[in-house]
Amino acid sequence: MKVDYIIVGLGLAGLAFAEELITAKKTFMVFEDASQTSSLVAGGVYNPVILKRFSPVWNAKEQLAVALPFYERLEKKFNIKFDEKFVIKKVFKSIKDQNNWFVAFDKPNVAPFLDEKLDKNTYSGVIGEHYFGNVKEGGRINTLKLVETYRNYLKENNCIRFEKFNHKEIILEEDLVKYQDIEASTIVFAEGFGIKENPYFKHLPLEEVKGELITIYAPELEIDFLLKSTLFVMPLGNNTYKIGATFNHLDKTSEPSQEGREELVEKLQKVISVPYTIIDQTAGIRPTVKDRRPMVGIHPEFKNLAVLNGLGTRGVIIAPTVARNLFHHITNNEKLDDEIDIKRFK
Ligand SMILES: Cc1cc2nc3c(=O)[nH]c(=O)nc-3n(C[C@H](O)[C@H](O)[C@H](O)COP(=O)(O)OP(=O)(O)OC[C@H]3O[C@@H](n4cnc5c(N)ncnc54)[C@H](O)[C@@H]3O)c2cc1C
Repeated sequence: MKVDYIIVGLGLAGLAFAEELITAKKTFMVFEDASQTSSLVAGGVYNPVILKRFSPVWNAKEQLAVALPFYERLEKKFNIKFDEKFVIKKVFKSIKDQNNWFVAFDKPNVAPFLDEKLDKNTYSGVIGEHYFGNVKEGGRINTLKLVETYRNYLKENNCIRFEKFNHKEIILEEDLVKYQDIEASTIVFAEGFGIKENPYFKHLPLEEVKGELITIYAPELEIDFLLKSTLFVMPLGNNTYKIGATFNHLDKTSEPSQEGREELVEKLQKVISVPYTIIDQTAGIRPTVKDRRPMVGIHPEFKNLAVLNGLGTRGVIIAPTVARNLFHHITNNEKLDDEIDIKRFK
C-alpha cells in the first residue's frame, strides 16, 4: 500500500495533522495503540490569559484565530458540537490579586480579554470573599468527543489501524520509508508522552506532567461559567462539574490515583461549600517541555521522519497552528519558527 504519510498517534496533534492532509488531498495511514490518554481526558479549556500572573498565553491571539475556525469546521464536518464558549471567572485571593488584575489592563495583549467590570460573589455554594474578574473569549473543546468522533471517521475510511507502531520495523530508503506493507514519503510522530519509546526522537527533552481530574455531581451548585481558583470548576450540564487539575512530575502512569483524588478534594473544599458526589476520575500525561514551547520539525539525519509534540498544557489552542506549520515545512520547506523547531535542542 502506498500513502503520502504515516501518522503515529491520534490525539490532538495527530488529529490536527490528519486534517491538514485531508485539506491538501494527501493520503495517509494512522497508527493508534491507546497507550496515552492526554487528549481523551483533557479539560479542553482554552483561555487566552494565564490567570496566575495575568500574563498573555504565548501567541494566544494568533493561535485562537487558527484554532477556533478549525474546531468550527470539524463541528460542521460531523454535525456535532465540540466547542462550548463560556466566561471564565477568576476568584481573587486578595486585594493585591484584585489590584494586579487592573494593572494587567496596561498589557496590550492581555487587556482585550479582560472585562473591566468586576463581579460580586452572588453565587450560592461558591466560596470567595473578594470580587471575581471575568475573562472573555474562553471556552472548552470537548476533546473526548472530538477524538472519538475523529477516530471513528478514520476507521470508516480505512485510514487508521488500532495497533502499536513498532519503530524497529521502519525501513529508511532514499526518498521513502517502508513500514510493514506500507510505503510512505514521511512518518509524522505525534505520540505525546509515547515519544519516550521512539528511538529516533527520544533524545528530545520531553517531560511528563501527570494530570488528574474528577467529575462531581453537585445538585446545589448552579454555575454556567468556568470558575478559576486554585483549581477549575467547569460546568458540564445536569449539575455535573469537571474539577482539575493536578500537576505531578514524578508519576509516569496514566492511572487515576488516590493521592490525586485527595489533593483535588482538599482544594475543592476551599472553593465550593455545597455537598457533592464524585462520579468519575481520569488521568493522563501532558507532554511538556521546559521552555513551554512545542517540539516540531524534521529529524536532523532522516528527512522522512518528522515530529509533532510538546503541546504541554495547551494542546487545544496550539495543535491546529503547529500542525499547519509542520505540514508547510515538510511540503514547501517553509521555515519553522525558531521557538518551536526541534533544532533548538542541539
Ligand atoms: C488532566 C489533564 C488536563 C488537561 N487540560 C487541558 C485543557 O484544559 N486545555 C488544553 O488545551 N490542554 C489540556 N491538557 C493538555 C492536552 O491534553 C495535551 O496538550 C494534548 O492532549 C496532547 O496531545 P498529543 O496528541 O500531543 O498527545 P496525546 O493525547 O498523548 O496523543 C498521543 C497519541 O499517540 C498514541 N501513541 C503513542 N505511542 C504510540 C505508538 N507507538 N503506536 C501507536 N500509537 C501511539 C497514544 O495512544 C495517544 O493516543 C490536559 C492534559 C491533562 C492530562
